[in-house]
Amino acid sequence: MDLQESPDIALFRASVRAFIAQLVPGDWRGIGALDLNGRRDFTARARAALAERGWVAPTWPAEYGGAGLGPTEQIALGEELVRAGIPTGAESDAFGISMLGNTMLRHSPPELCERFLPRLVSGEYVFCQGFSEPGAGSDLAALATRAVREGDRWLINGQKLWSSSAHLANWMFVLARTDPDAPPYKGLSMLLVPLDQTGVEIRPIRNLTGETHFHEVFFTDAVTDADLVVGEEGRGWPVAMTLLGFERAETYVLMPIRLRDELDRLTDLIVSRGLEDDPDIRQRLAWCHVQVEQLRCQSLRLATRLVDGHEPGPQAAVVKLLTSEYHRKATELAMDVLGLDALVPTGEPSPNWYYTDDPGAPNSSASWTSVYLNARAATIYGGSSQIQRGIVGEMLLGLPKEPRPRPATAS
Ligand SMILES: Cc1cc2nc3c(=O)[nH]c(=O)nc-3n(C[C@H](O)[C@H](O)[C@H](O)COP(=O)(O)OP(=O)(O)OC[C@H]3O[C@@H](n4cnc5c(N)ncnc54)[C@H](O)[C@@H]3O)c2cc1C
Repeated sequence: MDLQESPDIALFRASVRAFIAQLVPGDWRGIGALDLNGRRDFTARARAALAERGWVAPTWPAEYGGAGLGPTEQIALGEELVRAGIPTGAESDAFGISMLGNTMLRHSPPELCERFLPRLVSGEYVFCQGFSEPGAGSDLAALATRAVREGDRWLINGQKLWSSSAHLANWMFVLARTDPDAPPYKGLSMLLVPLDQTGVEIRPIRNLTGETHFHEVFFTDAVTDADLVVGEEGRGWPVAMTLLGFERAETYVLMPIRLRDELDRLTDLIVSRGLEDDPDIRQRLAWCHVQVEQLRCQSLRLATRLVDGHEPGPQAAVVKLLTSEYHRKATELAMDVLGLDALVPTGEPSPNWYYTDDPGAPNSSASWTSVYLNARAATIYGGSSQIQRGIVGEMLLGLPKEPRPRPATAS
């Protein structure tokens, strides 16, 4: 892969920098330096400006609200935005743009794309993810939420669990069982379900940091239109696999740039605590540096796969696994540097629960502590590290398949 940038990319970068210069005030230090209200207002303003240029979904065709950019431009755009401390979208865009929109482009007819994709870009439709259930996480095909076709609509009953950002969403993509007689992987369909209806109840769950970012969602005779199925009815499993590929891939393509910014802050923290000569800390910091560089190369490699309708495939598991495990260890290093101060955190906690803190964020113990706690979650959501290792072993390395539990038989 040629890592030299072409003159066209340099020109494109210049246009992004000009856009950023118009967007931010002269004393701009990054979104992480703003208070909660300032952050919310700026994110909304930046997202609207990005959407106007098709840069919220940069690789999508222009007729769907994208900018038709290639992977190299997409990465250049992301790099410029992240380095300047500008959010690349809103919190729920991970679900609507990265996961659902990219999946619809590969599995849905133009009529459905025409209705949904531009509304995802404009922010009119805000999605969350309805896959996991009390009895179905790693074993997703065990899910029990039922959807029954009644005339021109689906009637949905069941429960979803751990639905992140459901409180911000007005739609959910729901993996439901539409044929209970088919084998587990075959009787599923992915439905687009409006959340603003009496048959839907959303209950928050408090997490390790004390926040309520994810939810239980109950469906009691909830309805959606018969044609709001992504892919074919009964073929929800391959659709879900495409979507999980994008959850593991696109979300992580820009992560190394954020991690580089975070690592610089971690280095400052180490120096500010006078620990830069500690041999153990130095060794762990050097490891972090190598990992972030390695992740940057892995992410570039993955991004260049996502052209011409290609899917991330099992390669996404490598990036997801390495990124989340790296972040767990890097934040553990931060905890060791803070020592006892980590037990009585002070300053502003990280408002960015989703992954690392935002560029420009303060080096407060509260910020590092909440990032440390949230880093545990990334080794679970989007498929746990054990599941990613299974994918890498079986699908990339060609190792023998893990023994699967035998299906229960009637006695
Ligand atoms: C912060 C957060 C946000 C989330 N957001 C969403 C969301 O928005 N929408 C959504 O649908 N879901 C979401 N999830 C759910 C997430 O996808 C599941 O938690 C995850 O798939 C694991 O499922 P589980 O919790 O049921 O654990 P289980 O599947 O019960 O796993 C328990 C343990 O067993 C291990 N294990 C299971 N099977 C195997 C195997 N075959 N081989 C080796 N080890 C195995 C797992 O790795 C894990 O350590 C979120 C989870 C978290 C933590």
